[in-house]
Amino acid sequence: MIDQKLLEILACPACDERPPVRLKEDRLVCSVCRRAYPIREGIPVMLVDEATIEPEEEAESGAASASAPRDGKAA
Ligand SMILES: [Zn+2]
Repeated sequence: MIDQKLLEILACPACDERPPVRLKEDRLVCSVCRRAYPIREGIPVMLVDEATIEPEEEAESGAASASAPRDGKAA
């Protein structure tokens, strides 16, 4: 587990304003750019190259957008 004090001093290296990150499962997610930084052996890897992008949280009523139905056409 990540120490709360450590979490408070960590900031997203990809954002100029250095926003705080929050713990989500086994990674640290930037609240601004949604990059998720992995935690390896208890050590947060705050590297942009190692980060993945978290999908939008589906907290609000999901409006399905930009997802056209695909049916496999055999041409
Ligand atoms: Zn960020």
